[in-house]
Amino acid sequence: MIMKFAEEGNIDDLESRVVYTGICCYCGACGGFCTEYIHYENQLPTTDEKCFELHGACFDFCPRTFLPILEMEKAVLGGVRSDKDLGYYTEIILAKATEGAVAEKGQDGGVVTALLTYLMEKGEIDAACISRSSESEAWLPEPFVATSKEDILAGAGSNYEQCPTIIGVANAIADGYENIAMVGLPCHTQAMRKIQLSDYFDVHGDKVKYVIGLFCTETFDRELFHAKLGEMGIKIEDVKKFDIGEGKFKVYTDKGETIEKISKMKACAREGCKVCYDFAAELSDVSVGSIGAETGWNTVIIRSETGKKLIDDAKAAGAIETKAIDDAAVEEVRKLASSKKTGNLKNIMASAGALKLLNLAIDPSEMDLLI
Ligand SMILES: Cc1cc2nc3c(=O)[nH]c(=O)nc-3n(C[C@H](O)[C@H](O)[C@H](O)COP(=O)(O)OP(=O)(O)OC[C@H]3O[C@@H](n4cnc5c(N)ncnc54)[C@H](O)[C@@H]3O)c2cc1C
Ligand code: SF4
Ligand code: SF4
Repeated sequence: MIMKFAEEGNIDDLESRVVYTGICCYCGACGGFCTEYIHYENQLPTTDEKCFELHGACFDFCPRTFLPILEMEKAVLGGVRSDKDLGYYTEIILAKATEGAVAEKGQDGGVVTALLTYLMEKGEIDAACISRSSESEAWLPEPFVATSKEDILAGAGSNYEQCPTIIGVANAIADGYENIAMVGLPCHTQAMRKIQLSDYFDVHGDKVKYVIGLFCTETFDRELFHAKLGEMGIKIEDVKKFDIGEGKFKVYTDKGETIEKISKMKACAREGCKVCYDFAAELSDVSVGSIGAETGWNTVIIRSETGKKLIDDAKAAGAIETKAIDDAAVEEVRKLASSKKTGNLKNIMASAGALKLLNLAIDPSEMDLLI
């Protein structure tokens, strides 16, 4: 489809508008699908050779060049939001994995892992693009193409650093997998949908049949995060699990639990996360998070027909159990989404320079005085 606000650009435009301005989110879309020219150094795309394309897939797929979110939402999900904080959805529920091993490995209720293993065992997918810790560096998230239940379980749990997940999707497509599921943060789901909706480049994004999104407020910059862990007296090699909930950042090691206020972790946020305007992975088939759910459960937002069928089928097969969520819990999710969006919208506007809307000229830093 031709997106209304689509723009054309090449690698130079990508560098000047996204990389050098600090808004790259390291999703992996540009380098994943252009291995000829782009590789990553210090978690940023870079090139050694000049590419002469006027319009490149790197620019087209990047979620930070242009993102006509409402148009994309309509094209992907078939509807337009009535909820500005959570996007378009048909249902919000609570769910958890039923199998003990899955629930135990999963970060919260294990729903993501349960859905993937259900799809794999039923033969609905032949690959799941997830994230897994590197075998050489502790807790370094790497894209991973899982092709068995054991693989999927090996990637379970949350890593609060960024993973260039879309590289895994590109690898899975290049390796000939036909029915793929991907798990990603909001920025990954945005990139995935731009790839699927692109009018210029067909890289077989249609092979990705399921997009499972995770809620996300931010990811941590590796250097700042490790320095912070050092201040907390923790060695990364000793960490068994990280968790965020009830306003706290929790680190589990053999010695027990160490807690820091989540507000104190804000200083570790990646630069590119400060302009992110999506908390709930608004373009996914289903979005999964912990806020709003009691311990051992997930909050699940069902957005598309594909997502609805997946949840219904997984429930009927006994892979997950579900229950209703109450209004107060949904409000809690909305409140967190809204606070991320409001804060980051200010950063987006501040980077825009002076704005003129019809006859109204305003410096974005003074917008607060008017709205
Ligand atoms: C960086 C980050 C920030 C988050 N912030 C919030 C938040 O503010 N509020 C909230 O309610 N929930 C948040 N979540 C979601 C939450 O931590 C759980 O991922 C979610 O509840 C699903 O739980 P689960 O038990 O079903 O996951 P699991 O069954 O354990 O599956 C998790 C899946 O996520 C993949 N994954 C792990 N880390 C990453 C990563 N860095 N990038 C891409 N994929 C990854 C794993 O490979 C696995 O497939 C965040 C997750 C991440 C990774
Ligand atoms: S946001 Fe993603 S696609 Fe855009 S420059 Fe960064 S890694 Fe590449
Ligand atoms: S806040 Fe989360 S979704 Fe947004 S860019 Fe950062 S990692 Fe991606």
